[in-house]
Amino acid sequence: MSTECIFCKIIAGEIPSDKVYEDEQVLAFRDIAPQAPVHILVIPKAHIASAAEVSAENADLAAACFVAISRIAREHGLDGFRVISNCGVEGGQTVFHLHFHLLGGRRLGANLL
Ligand code: 5GP
Ligand code: ZN
Repeated sequence: MSTECIFCKIIAGEIPSDKVYEDEQVLAFRDIAPQAPVHILVIPKAHIASAAEVSAENADLAAACFVAISRIAREHGLDGFRVISNCGVEGGQTVFHLHFHLLGGRRLGANLL
């Protein structure tokens, strides 16, 4: 756990969140500022700063996030959806704990931005 990390505090229960899924490795909760009718953040419970920090040693945690993503999408009846992970300041990342935005619930445009 990183003591200054908002998402580690959410995992620890120190900051409340609207949880939609949890297992040993993964937590998923609704984004506080949703950009689509369904906007869920899927994160590993272990602190990994960003996609740039994913390696052969921790790739199982990234994979577990994707297993959770397909499960959550199915449970929310999403026909299609988008997964985004902003990486680094240049990539638009604002919380430096690896997370995947799961967006859906409406027809998403062809442009990412
Ligand atoms: P990033 O910009 O790093 O890709 O995404 C960070 C996301 O975390 C943003 O979409 C923002 O709305 C969300 N967020 C930031 N703080 C909180 C929080 O305390 N609770 C929840 N549920 N979402 C948060
Ligand atoms: Zn963290």
